[in-house]
Amino acid sequence: MAWSKEETIGRGDMRKIQLDRLRKTVGYIYGKNPVYKKKLDEAGVAPGDVKSLDDIRRLPFTAKGEIRDNYPFGLFTASMEEIVEFHATSGTTGKMVVVGYTRNDVELWTEVMARACTGAGITKSDIVQNIYGYGLFTGGLGTHYGAMRIGAAVIPMSGGNTQRQITMMQDFGSTVVTSTPSFLMHIHEVGEQMGVDFRKLKLKTGLFGAEPWSESMRGAIEEKFGITACDMYGLSEIIGPGVSFECHQVRKGLHVNEDYFYPEIIHPETGEVLPYGEEGELVLTTIANEGQPLLRYRTRDISRLDAEPCACGRTLVRMQRITGRTDDMLIIRGVNFFPSQVESIILKRQGVSPHYMVVVDRKGSMDEVEVRVEVTDDFMAKAGADVLKGSEQEILKDVALARQKMENLKRDIKDVIGITVKVTLVAPGTVPRSEGKAKRVDDRRPKD
Ligand SMILES: [Zn+2]
Repeated sequence: MAWSKEETIGRGDMRKIQLDRLRKTVGYIYGKNPVYKKKLDEAGVAPGDVKSLDDIRRLPFTAKGEIRDNYPFGLFTASMEEIVEFHATSGTTGKMVVVGYTRNDVELWTEVMARACTGAGITKSDIVQNIYGYGLFTGGLGTHYGAMRIGAAVIPMSGGNTQRQITMMQDFGSTVVTSTPSFLMHIHEVGEQMGVDFRKLKLKTGLFGAEPWSESMRGAIEEKFGITACDMYGLSEIIGPGVSFECHQVRKGLHVNEDYFYPEIIHPETGEVLPYGEEGELVLTTIANEGQPLLRYRTRDISRLDAEPCACGRTLVRMQRITGRTDDMLIIRGVNFFPSQVESIILKRQGVSPHYMVVVDRKGSMDEVEVRVEVTDDFMAKAGADVLKGSEQEILKDVALARQKMENLKRDIKDVIGITVKVTLVAPGTVPRSEGKAKRVDDRRPKD
């Protein structure tokens, strides 16, 4: 069952809601925000010009840089009397990207997250261990609001505190975890050393997001924890988590809450709108937000849209899980290279762990890529024992096996991505861990 009736209405009814809300949003922004008024004037579009959904193509794009340029409140459309909550992304470079929510925005956010929780199969009987960070980051509070709305019992753990996370899972009998995939894998690693069998705990569902992850990572999480893992997607600029979500019944693409966020896919270089089914940059227009509505916001996330009806009964279009970001995309010797592709390859091979780092450097005019992958504890333990035993034959076998692993990975990467990389196996625990979003790339090339 879906949480709200808009999730299963006919396409025609959905388009009516969308057009009505889009027209209101454009009029509202034009009247209230001078930055947007100027943008629209320059694009030669008046609010009355939006007569059909296709007219959205006449509206100008909004880039992430524009929110920063108008830091902190320049793109707000509501007055401070109406704003009730702030969020912001830290941003590794430059100023924060700030978002302001009115009471209605928080209600909207709660609604879309209630849909996401219901989509994942979470019910009011569940105990939800919410591992997303609380604070300016939207993950913690957004998930908290949605899970509470459906009546689940929320444990507001936030990130970090790995051992206490495990204690809570054991003692409170958490049935749901909400987390970044990489941090949950880290919890598993720590728990394994403590002798915890996560499959024996009461966990049954996981709701993951906030970083790109692969089907192989999903398989690994489901196997290690004995849970059903669902994906959700969002970004602070639009609302936070809850822009789209997977239904646990099908899990092929994420249903977009398109009565609130109108999705388009564009060619990242030309800006041309691409038809359903084609891959490109996801662009979202908020059509009900009040605090800081965004017209045609360029997410830089790579996806595609699918309007085929879903067996779960929802009619909301689905977006393919994010395969990468236009700005995370590395261009190596002219080839587009997404770190998430490396992850899928690593997870298919035995004897290496999902912890990896891609190091890019330039030697002369040549880009060189090194993929550092941790071997598993088991492999390390055996190799260590062989060294202690002083068994030359066994040591040589271990070395040969390690070489073989590196060669296999190198070949797989060449086959799938099309570039030759250096693969290095490193000891377990040596790739830096993160308690939030995983950092997978160390690009040391000079910026020109
Ligand atoms: Zn579905």
